[in-house]
Amino acid sequence: MSKKCIICNVEAVYVIKDTSDYYCRECAEEHFGDLAMLVKVEDDVSKLKEIVGARLAPQERAEHEEEHEDYEQSN
Ligand SMILES: [Zn+2]
Repeated sequence: MSKKCIICNVEAVYVIKDTSDYYCRECAEEHFGDLAMLVKVEDDVSKLKEIVGARLAPQERAEHEEEHEDYEQSN
């Protein structure tokens, strides 16, 4: 579910920290000049990063090559 800019009602990409004020990029730049107090709206992206981060965690895989010797059964 995407948020809408509270000014022009297009899809918002920024939200003011600790508020529910959403802005599109244009309005955010127009009203704030710098975007320091704005955080990006990226619900899915942040989740994706977590997944990617987890995947990037070092995984040591020891290779166990078990050799099965064939015992010759003599009868
Ligand atoms: Zn806007």
